[in-house]
Amino acid sequence: MEKSYDVVVAGAGIAGCLAAAAAAKGGAKVLLLDRNVPDESGKKTNWGWVCGDAVAKSHIDFITQNLGIKFSEPELDLKVDGVLAISPDFKNKVSFDGEGYVLDRPKFGTKIRDMAIKNGAEYVHGHEVEGPILEGNNVVGVFGRDHNKEQFKVGTKIVIDTLGVASMLRRRLPPNEYIQKDISIDDIESTGRYIMDFEPQGEDLNYYDPKNCLIHLNQQLAPGGYGWVFPKKGKKINIGLGVEKHSLDIRNQKLQKKDTLHGLIDQYVEWNPIVGGQRLNDEDKNGKGYWSVTVRRQLDCLVYNNYIGAGDSMAMPNPISAGGIGPAMVAGIQAGQVAAEAVAANDTSMKFLWKYNLMFNESYGNKTAGLEVFRIYLQSLNNELINYGMAHFLTKEEALQISYGMVPEIGMTSKIIKVMHGLANINAFKNLVYVVSEMKKLNNLYNNYPKEIGGFRAWSAAVNSEMQEAKIRFKPNPI
Ligand SMILES: Cc1cc2nc3c(=O)[nH]c(=O)nc-3n(C[C@H](O)[C@H](O)[C@H](O)COP(=O)(O)OP(=O)(O)OC[C@H]3O[C@@H](n4cnc5c(N)ncnc54)[C@H](O)[C@@H]3O)c2cc1C
Repeated sequence: MEKSYDVVVAGAGIAGCLAAAAAAKGGAKVLLLDRNVPDESGKKTNWGWVCGDAVAKSHIDFITQNLGIKFSEPELDLKVDGVLAISPDFKNKVSFDGEGYVLDRPKFGTKIRDMAIKNGAEYVHGHEVEGPILEGNNVVGVFGRDHNKEQFKVGTKIVIDTLGVASMLRRRLPPNEYIQKDISIDDIESTGRYIMDFEPQGEDLNYYDPKNCLIHLNQQLAPGGYGWVFPKKGKKINIGLGVEKHSLDIRNQKLQKKDTLHGLIDQYVEWNPIVGGQRLNDEDKNGKGYWSVTVRRQLDCLVYNNYIGAGDSMAMPNPISAGGIGPAMVAGIQAGQVAAEAVAANDTSMKFLWKYNLMFNESYGNKTAGLEVFRIYLQSLNNELINYGMAHFLTKEEALQISYGMVPEIGMTSKIIKVMHGLANINAFKNLVYVVSEMKKLNNLYNNYPKEIGGFRAWSAAVNSEMQEAKIRFKPNPI
């Protein structure tokens, strides 16, 4: 071992910088390790800081409340009223997430990295983490290669894994029943986006709204996912889409096309009549990029022996919106706080760290399994059913409740009159009633998340069995 720390935070993205800042604030000796050069803090891949960059104000406030730091321009690029999901026929819009911001992601990344350093974390860049150092089943450090391709090793009492969706730490843990190593391809969206300067070609709030983030639900344009146009300051947008692989395959087969994610994004930009004269804005070499995002509940357990995960490494993005910035902020701070407490208590065992599972659940995670079932249901609906459902199945208030993972009371009797047109609609409505009852069951299970490790196996089996049932019932059906 070259050096030893209380806490090594691997990955200086959103979750990592906040975890390092919180752990250092809690008194721990912290190393924040990342592969990027300092000017590119938080860059996810060679493609850049690939993201839609939209985040709810409540999550930004959570950072301020816990770490004292305030944000303003330029890192908060534009304030927005909320996010609007628009039906394929444009006849219905559902608003969710409330007011928020579209971030300047490179500047935001630098600001939170600097906060971690200011709080006392040591920041080492240009280091690629390749895996955990293990002693038996205990994580005792991390290893990897530095910018000269020389191997390095660092010892630590706790590792916080914030390496993002492809984490090599998670995947190289010893075989265990707590942390799932691989994520099913069905639960991953392939996504991409451009940041563009453009000249608005008139006004139509269905296509570009300077005060709202727009989401276009459309199974032909974005099978199994959605397209988005998020405003940035000035005449600038973040525009992109995500697809689910099976849905794309089915859609291509039915339409006898060979569209790829890249091609669909280009078509989506062309499809938008308000976006004209567009040019890639390649500031920070961040104009165009592709990456994956998970759309499942967070991993059932987030801790192991001397190991905590936060953010995309633990599959935390919201299953229906794919918003992962907010949960990465909440989890990063909580992971850092619990790590510092564990170091102070001289107990970094999984038993001590377990409380982090409960904290994250209570503040964010207990609704995501229900949302995962809703996402699986949504992917089984074609455009016609989405149009019909958004018009007749749910009131705007009920749809809003669902987007927050709450369960509205919708019974067959109250709504059946409205959905009498066509067997497909009646079946889709029956399925929605089933989904809502599943959401209720899963929310109950998560409200009873095991208080101790001993209860985990039975609890996890119950959650996975409910989820399996939904996956068997609903198959992607984009056209
Ligand atoms: C196209 C797209 C659009 C999205 N849009 C939105 C949106 O609008 N709103 C929203 O809330 N969420 C969105 N998300 C999700 C969001 O971007 C992520 O949830 C968020 O970035 C997670 O932060 P993180 O810190 O967990 O991981 P990351 O942001 O992935 O950070 C990981 C860090 O670890 C570093 N790293 C990775 N591997 C190694 C290694 N081996 N060694 C050393 N360092 C390493 C990376 O360089 C990076 O600095 C989107 C995602 C995509 C792909």
